[in-house]
Amino acid sequence: MQEERHSLPSIGSGTTRELVSLHYGARETRAKVYIQASLHADEVPAMLVAYHLRATLAAAEARGEIAGEIVLVPVANPIGLAQTVFGHALGRFDLTTGTNFNRGYKNLVPELKESLADKLGPGAAENERTIRAEAVRLLSVPEPRLEGDALKLLLQRLAIDADVVLDLHCDHEGLPHVYAGTHMAAAAAPLARLLGAGALLVAHESGDDPFDESCGRLWPELAEHFGAATPVPLACLSVTVELRGERDVSHALARADAQAIAGFLAHRGHVKGPPPDLPPPRCTATPLQGVERVKAPHPGVLAWRCEPGTKVRPGDELVDVIEPLGGTVTTLAATTEGMFFARAARRYAHGGMEVARIAGAKPLRTGKLLGL
Ligand SMILES: [Zn+2]
Repeated sequence: MQEERHSLPSIGSGTTRELVSLHYGARETRAKVYIQASLHADEVPAMLVAYHLRATLAAAEARGEIAGEIVLVPVANPIGLAQTVFGHALGRFDLTTGTNFNRGYKNLVPELKESLADKLGPGAAENERTIRAEAVRLLSVPEPRLEGDALKLLLQRLAIDADVVLDLHCDHEGLPHVYAGTHMAAAAAPLARLLGAGALLVAHESGDDPFDESCGRLWPELAEHFGAATPVPLACLSVTVELRGERDVSHALARADAQAIAGFLAHRGHVKGPPPDLPPPRCTATPLQGVERVKAPHPGVLAWRCEPGTKVRPGDELVDVIEPLGGTVTTLAATTEGMFFARAARRYAHGGMEVARIAGAKPLRTGKLLGL
């Protein structure tokens, strides 16, 4: 294993931070996997999964079982991890700029359409190499001066030429679930099965350029743009994995998740040896547009009537919102049929706050599909 330390620009005199990436295997073949943990730095389960994954990958490396390279970034966001304010961990947004650490990654597709215009030919494998090299070149730009922007560029650079990109997060409370591009639904399904995911949510574009899309979108969009005469393979499976809720941090869960991820890498041929049997699926892919986002109509204490993991139908009661001054009680019910897969961790909602998510098959929304 090679450890690489990447310096971030100083945010203030006398202060510097660095990102650490661990590189297992060797690039004697081109195969590459990229895995990062806790880009939203207050989503802790991913870091424990990375801890267990380190041991698994080190053992596989010692046995010579890693095909190509596997890059693991066990702490993807050292900036956010240091943002403890009055005892509260604030790891989702950069306190310097107010931006979400998982938004605003560079969409390389417009530049690639131009720069590749006369560089692709009839061979898919050759086109794949050309596109990867061009994407790496486009990210070889001077380091941004803002620390948060420099971190985003660094993460994207580490991942952009990988065959598999896993961005490990968690929700407030809920089941394991996976976000993927629509064209990757079938390729992501084995990972969803191994993780016991309760939802596999797919979208062509979810809006605001999250990390996973910045790596995965190149391939289907360039394939469509350049057409059949210059074939472009779907050469990167890039997904966001939500590892249950933020308090679901235990050795037992993290070991099982690390084993599921290692099993998926064996399934894809990145770790040599027999792939594991796939457990039965807990879900089929459903559109991200079909996620019902249940919101509190007024402020109030949340008293739940239903637990995540429940399959609901329209009219099924989810939660009472109890306004403690006037005594108004509103019972929120599902309006779509699907899996109740995530809910807020807080038990007091402000008016308009999203409190629950249900994965349904019927598209309900358009535009930007992710939350804040
Ligand atoms: Zn997250």
